[in-house]
Amino acid sequence: MALTGGCHCGAIRYRAEGAALNHALCHCRDCRRHAGAPMVGWTMYKSGDVTIMAGTPKVYHSSEHGRRHFCADCGTGLFYVNEQFLPGIIDVQSATYDDPDAIPAQLHIQVAERIGWMKHAHELPEHERFPPM
Ligand SMILES: [Zn+2]
Ligand SMILES: [Zn+2]
Repeated sequence: MALTGGCHCGAIRYRAEGAALNHALCHCRDCRRHAGAPMVGWTMYKSGDVTIMAGTPKVYHSSEHGRRHFCADCGTGLFYVNEQFLPGIIDVQSATYDDPDAIPAQLHIQVAERIGWMKHAHELPEHERFPPM
């Protein structure tokens, strides 16, 4: 199976081949702060299985060894690489797939740093679009 995806503006496009090693929803502070979101979904691949087809991501050093790749034009976060702790591995932000339903999330990680109210976020009232004004 091959999956394609890219950033919001379309400048960066990638292709991921084969099976993802896992799909985790990360609650760590670094992911939250970099994405500006309460959690971030990551699919893990062997480095050689992900090819950038168009564009060049900007690389941000988010920690001593952590490298976050994002689109410098629209800001979308795309990849995470940490050659120290995860050699030969690339994480792809799963919400950037053209078909984000293709690989269901499997687990929550780094819940030690989770925002308190996120534990029960799935129990909140739901609206097809917006609540009545
Ligand atoms: Zn972009
Ligand atoms: Zn994280």
